[in-house]
Amino acid sequence: MNLLTPEQIEKLRASSIRFPDVNETCIGCSACAAISWEVFELDDEWLSKVQDLPSYEDKFVDEAISACPVDAISWKQ
Ligand code: SF4
Repeated sequence: MNLLTPEQIEKLRASSIRFPDVNETCIGCSACAAISWEVFELDDEWLSKVQDLPSYEDKFVDEAISACPVDAISWKQ
């Protein structure tokens, strides 16, 4: 599974597709990847990244948002 690149994030921002974003406060606890492995994956530095998907199911992202101890995940559009 590929992770979103900065270019893909810019394309999503320019479109109407709602997508999850992980900000720089991520501490790499892996809760989001454990709960919603369909959407989140830890990179080589053990920080959460969003996987490159055609769309993102609300329930997977919302569960990860609820589980994140530092509020690093949010929806973007
Ligand atoms: S749950 Fe939050 S802090 Fe933990 S890895 Fe995911 S984004 Fe980072």
